[in-house]
Amino acid sequence: MSICWYCEINVANPGSSKKVSLYKKGGVTATRRVITKHYQTIDVTIPGCRMCKESYDRISRFTAAAVTISFLAGVLAALLMDSLNPGYFGLAEIFTGIMVFALGIFIGRLLIKKVPVQFLKGKDPIKYPEIAEKLASGWTDYKP
Ligand SMILES: [Zn+2]
Repeated sequence: MSICWYCEINVANPGSSKKVSLYKKGGVTATRRVITKHYQTIDVTIPGCRMCKESYDRISRFTAAAVTISFLAGVLAALLMDSLNPGYFGLAEIFTGIMVFALGIFIGRLLIKKVPVQFLKGKDPIKYPEIAEKLASGWTDYKP
């Protein structure tokens, strides 16, 4: 049984572990019509527990909600601004919308610290030793 990498306390379970795919460029072959990029791929599994997975899910739901609400507030503010000056939708409206969106994101970043989480600080999947080592030697976590 492995221990959860995120909290280093609980026993990890497969359903809460995170699989990360890594890629490495393996050259290009070209025929007259098609250019094919080749790459190697490997999967690394980071052992996780249910509590930590729930914490991560809570954080991603919070982030998605904060971005959506900020965006809608920005659009609403721009429309409100426009209703003060009907018939002309210009820089003032766009600027107001962007400012309200930015304010929403700022508030979201303050509030996210209040979201209860189980995992230890700084436990970013890219810092998992096996992944960090591969990333340092030319692998990427996206398709090259
Ligand atoms: Zn854990």
